[in-house]
Amino acid sequence: MSNYNPYDNVVSTIKNAGQMLGMKESEYITFMYPERELKVNFPVRMDDGSVQVIEGFRIQHSSDRGPCKGGIRFHPDVNDDEVRALAAWMTFKCAVVGIPYGGAKGGVKIDPTKYSRAELERITRRYTSAILPLIGPEKDIPAPDVNTNAEVMGWIMDTYSMMKGYSVPGVVTGKPIDIGGSLGRGEATGRGVMITLRECLKRLNKDPKGITVAVQGMGNVGSVSAKLISSELGAKIVAVSDVSGGIYNPDGLDIPGILAHLATRGNLLDTYNAPAGTKRISNAEVLTCDVDVLVPAALENQITAENAADIKASLIVEAANGPTTVEADKILEEKGVFLAPDILANAGGVVVSYFEWVQNLQSLVWDEEEVNKTLNRIMVRAIDDVFRLHEDKKVTLRTSAYCVGLEKLVKAKTLRGIFP
Ligand code: GLU
Repeated sequence: MSNYNPYDNVVSTIKNAGQMLGMKESEYITFMYPERELKVNFPVRMDDGSVQVIEGFRIQHSSDRGPCKGGIRFHPDVNDDEVRALAAWMTFKCAVVGIPYGGAKGGVKIDPTKYSRAELERITRRYTSAILPLIGPEKDIPAPDVNTNAEVMGWIMDTYSMMKGYSVPGVVTGKPIDIGGSLGRGEATGRGVMITLRECLKRLNKDPKGITVAVQGMGNVGSVSAKLISSELGAKIVAVSDVSGGIYNPDGLDIPGILAHLATRGNLLDTYNAPAGTKRISNAEVLTCDVDVLVPAALENQITAENAADIKASLIVEAANGPTTVEADKILEEKGVFLAPDILANAGGVVVSYFEWVQNLQSLVWDEEEVNKTLNRIMVRAIDDVFRLHEDKKVTLRTSAYCVGLEKLVKAKTLRGIFP
């Protein structure tokens, strides 16, 4: 939709939470605006000798609760309103789970499939140098997001370190393990999604073993979510999709087989040799297929006023950032669909990013069991907080999550006061 602006979603959700908490607008008005924005254009030499000028952003929404934190995405649709919204969601996400960070986000407007690995490295390094004044372990710490991964984080860490003249592992999280990455970070967002689903089902008195699940998106978050929801909860994944389309099998899909196929660079679901009984469906159909649980794990603006009424799932766990529009939220609420919001459900990634940063600052290495155990404890505590407010105030989980986050943000702002 051409006039869709995700930042409008953010502002209306913040206002709604502020009013719900009986706050005056002056208490939360700061959080309706991003704190600092940087737009950059930089030239990069291509393998054939030509030069392309590439556009990028780094937007810091808030540093009231600590250094800014948030990923960097590579996508052709990256724009300022999107990055602004993603930065604000990071602020609320970190507040809900109670880790000492504010929120930020970065984006580079490219289709990464159109570039060689060497070109992607040059784009990443030049973008890092362009946003250098903003980032650093004590002020703003990037991480992976859509179409970026540990390798890209390694280039960012190296570029920043070269500029400083010494190694600074804490400037970025989601790095390769050998240069200061944390065990468990690669799976952390998907693990958090699995924990959120497990805790919601517990509270709804439903046994995960009998339920069917559809997952939209097979990137890092979607694929790990599908894997852990089936292997650790015993639920049946019946539909998955990626940019090339989706597959559906009411008897359940072979998730390890699908993930092995997708693990080869460039492989998509359309070339997966599906066993008999598996139907090809469109990406849109994955959202409306007949399942108990829907996990949107792709991009924002997927569940909209156009398709919300057709959703059959009774529980949605938002693994992506901003997959549901405000209008769709209302329709889902009227239908009685239970929805675990992004700022809670996908917070596992940034929680383990926090562990990685702590390990880097202290030159310590945690084992994976410690990481997963602490992640579980933080997620369950946040889910408890959000459910408590949901029951007390009789509001949706999205509103209660924003209320939990906003209370902490306003408290921090009040304690710090307004400079000068
Ligand atoms: N990109 C992830 C998110 O949206 C992780 C951010 C981070 O670890 O800083 O939550």
